[in-house]
Amino acid sequence: MKLFFLKAMLFLMFLTLFSCESKKQKQEPKAYKAGVILSFDDAYVDEWYNADQALKKYGWKATFNVCRIDSIGAPQIKKLLQMQKEGHEIAGHGYHHYNAVKFVKKYGINEYMKQEIQPMIVSMKKKSFKVTTFAYPYGERSDALDKALSAKFKIIRGRAFGGEVPEKQDSYFNNSKIVFAFDIDNSHIHFSIPYVLELLDYAKKNNKILLLCGHKPVKNVTENYQTKIETLEFICKYIKQHDLKFYTSSDLDDLLPQK
Ligand SMILES: [Zn+2]
Repeated sequence: MKLFFLKAMLFLMFLTLFSCESKKQKQEPKAYKAGVILSFDDAYVDEWYNADQALKKYGWKATFNVCRIDSIGAPQIKKLLQMQKEGHEIAGHGYHHYNAVKFVKKYGINEYMKQEIQPMIVSMKKKSFKVTTFAYPYGERSDALDKALSAKFKIIRGRAFGGEVPEKQDSYFNNSKIVFAFDIDNSHIHFSIPYVLELLDYAKKNNKILLLCGHKPVKNVTENYQTKIETLEFICKYIKQHDLKFYTSSDLDDLLPQK
């Protein structure tokens, strides 16, 4: 009889333990494959389209954060729609490309939403862009802005400005809807191929998603805000050779914990 009780007790303890364990697991971040988000800001549609032609062979996917949607010509809108159809993401980067922090200081958050965010969403949706994520112009952000924009976007991207060792870099997805990207434009002071290689190796080894951003893809650099096609080729080759995954910004939404 005693033995029966002991067995029953043990069984109950096991059950409690097991249910605690499964509850704990639900709150833990979801498992995902190491990968890279390549994003591009502003409105260099022709150059993005050309880059897409060159990098298609790697099965790449990119996120294009578009600003000033109503100043973009009809042929370029057509190209953007085609790229969206191919699996690239077309995201928001401001209706006017205002510096959010400076604008809010002067006119307040409500005015920012009214002038910079709402018309952008309306116009982009009207043109059939899904627009579910946003990248801050100049990477200028604040906690109050993050909060206001959280209601409108699944993922909000700032910039990681430093060139610190990979384990201290902010440019990895950290199970948060606020993310930061490292700039791979040629003129960026911390950019170099060996450093990007370090960042990629760290993502691969530690199962992380690395966020990178650039502006205008070019063959030969002539001014600021240009990303060499050669750099993009290097990154795409690494991704293929090391079995990393191409993510877009909105893919991160599915990886957020407790969803
Ligand atoms: Zn910009």
